[in-house]
Amino acid sequence: MERAVFLDRDGTIIKDVGYLDDGSNIRVLPRVIEAIKLLNQNGFKVIVVTNQSGIARGYFTEEDVREINYKLKELLACEGAILDGIYYCPHHVNGIVEEYRTTCYCRKPNPGMLEAAAGEFNLDLKSSFVIGDNLADIEAGHNARCTAILLRDKYSWHGKNGTKIKPDYIARDLYGAVKQVVLGNLASKDDKGRE
Ligand SMILES: [Mg+2]
Ligand SMILES: [Zn+2]
Repeated sequence: MERAVFLDRDGTIIKDVGYLDDGSNIRVLPRVIEAIKLLNQNGFKVIVVTNQSGIARGYFTEEDVREINYKLKELLACEGAILDGIYYCPHHVNGIVEEYRTTCYCRKPNPGMLEAAAGEFNLDLKSSFVIGDNLADIEAGHNARCTAILLRDKYSWHGKNGTKIKPDYIARDLYGAVKQVVLGNLASKDDKGRE
């Protein structure tokens, strides 16, 4: 079985601009290319999992999102950073586009996208990681039994201790998180099970 690192898209690999509806506004965040290359070199599958409720809300279409994702993939590939897969959830329970207005199993914090990828790529989720800038990413990771890393200033995180959701680790940016993953400094759920 393979190990994966699941990456959130907006705010984790590209600048979060709200509802991104135009591929020309993709801004890859600092050190992201280096981070993805490091994962590629260390044998991790790199899989993007992104909530795109803008589809259900009628801000853009599923085709727009596919196009933006394709453009992102090409942009990174040009620099030698390979994304193995991109999964998106188009749904929202309060959407205005009827076919997408639903509660679903794929919208993070639900684990549906991670589980779908696990089936497709033969992944061992317990030795895989999730990295994201939002608590929904962390919760989705835990719901799929992955180890979850929150990208956040440690200081600002300590101000939010009211939440029950606890990331396994906190890192300043994607590269910082990835470096710890590939160095083996972070025990995965699998390692913890053996302790
Ligand atoms: Mg995000
Ligand atoms: Zn969904």
